[in-house]
Amino acid sequence: MHLNLDGRIALVTGGSRGIGAAIALVLAEAGAAVAINYRERAVDAERIAAAVTAIGPRVMTVAADVSNGEAVVSMIRTVTETLGPIDILINNAGIALIRGIDDLTEADFDQTISVNLKSAFLCTQAVLPYMRAQGWGRIVNISSGAARGAGGVGLHYNASKAGMEGLTRGYAARLVKQGITVNAVAPSLIETDMVTSGLASSASRIPVGRFGTSKEVAQVVLMLIGNAYMTGQTIALSGGMAFN
Ligand code: NAP
Repeated sequence: MHLNLDGRIALVTGGSRGIGAAIALVLAEAGAAVAINYRERAVDAERIAAAVTAIGPRVMTVAADVSNGEAVVSMIRTVTETLGPIDILINNAGIALIRGIDDLTEADFDQTISVNLKSAFLCTQAVLPYMRAQGWGRIVNISSGAARGAGGVGLHYNASKAGMEGLTRGYAARLVKQGITVNAVAPSLIETDMVTSGLASSASRIPVGRFGTSKEVAQVVLMLIGNAYMTGQTIALSGGMAFN
């Protein structure tokens, strides 16, 4: 299936690296204009923007801490003024602070819930007026296998991703009649900075025998954007580690 997203405008949170960067590129290949959000690594974001420009569509980078409501409202305004109304939102930005039960602090817990879960609420609320006005919208939330399994990060991360899947179903149920689908993708062990820089994980525990690639996650995101009948679902990809 070749998905044509000409004329669509997408925002990818955390699009400067890893999974978000791969999603920005497949959206651009399908023809969408892309806004690449990042927190602080402007050079990485500009590198992905240059790759989008080479593909063809319009692109911009936008710095914003998506756990902060004022920053999100300002980001959405900037993107809308520059590219136009957003009709594809990918809530991808996330952090994985590795903590055991006994060394997890209240600050770690709050930060994780804010960056991984509250951000999806803030960004979704801010783009909904535009999607409703057009009667079309696609929202894809990047969850994790840790929403249902133990994972290697910690229970705060489990909770943030399980919450994200609840948010996905809650929005999906309430937006289904307005042409807006809301789905989640739950990857496990994708070879990005998040996995290579901290998680003591080995590809040998993955039945497929290797880590997943960001491109493989991005392909699932694109499939969800192209499907108007699927909403409220979480699609897992884990190299055979877990089955929903
Ligand atoms: P990554 O390589 O660490 O990249 C994280 C991205 O999020 C970066 O673009 C970063 O921006 C951005 N970000 C972090 N905090 C932010 C904030 N407060 N505001 C705005 N942007 C912020 O991570 P990844 O592995 O690609 O993960 C992407 C998503 O997939 C996350 O939600 C993660 O939980 C989820 N996930 C990953 C895996 C995996 O195996 N890698 C598995 C399951 C789920 P800067 O570049 O500016 O720092």
